[in-house]
Amino acid sequence: MNAEALARLIRTVPDFPKPGILFRDVTTLIADGPGFAATVALLAEQAQRAGADAIAGIEARGFIFGAAVAARLVLPFVPVRKPGKLPVPVLAVDYALEYGRGTLEIDPGAVGAGQRFVVIDDLIATGGTALAAVELLRIAGGTVEDALFVIDLPDLAGAARLREAGVVVEALLDFPGH
Ligand code: AMP
Repeated sequence: MNAEALARLIRTVPDFPKPGILFRDVTTLIADGPGFAATVALLAEQAQRAGADAIAGIEARGFIFGAAVAARLVLPFVPVRKPGKLPVPVLAVDYALEYGRGTLEIDPGAVGAGQRFVVIDDLIATGGTALAAVELLRIAGGTVEDALFVIDLPDLAGAARLREAGVVVEALLDFPGH
């Protein structure tokens, strides 16, 4: 399945969750068996090329793609979670959202020293969320040099921010706008 066919499976919802945002909805992509399988296969190829020995997925849509990639490559999967979800003492990082602030948490016990993580999420916009995940994994002792996304919004320059932090960014699809 080529990039245009994958792009057609993504539903665009204007003014969600706020006026002016074009929400790129991957639920229509994962509802298509061949489309979901092709997406996971492409991400898994990139993760393998990056030399991943573990996959970190960002809550919530990063879990869907990240966990599928990890299972396909028979690698550990580590969830990067929203606050208050993990039942153990956590490492936490605050970061800026488009409006307001967010927090992400991980179980430091899930990260081995020098373990090479590839971060996966559905979409990169400003890059704040992915950067927070990279920071957390690095603080926990992991190595992170690669992040994979189904969609990049290049107008928001998140990929450039990640590159400045020494992370190679790859996305299957680029969409214009916010
Ligand atoms: P950012 O931190 O600005 O890179 O935002 C990325 C996170 O917000 C990802 O976890 C996305 O799922 C979500 N997100 C941001 N913008 C959009 C959008 N236009 N459509 C769908 N999800 C979005």
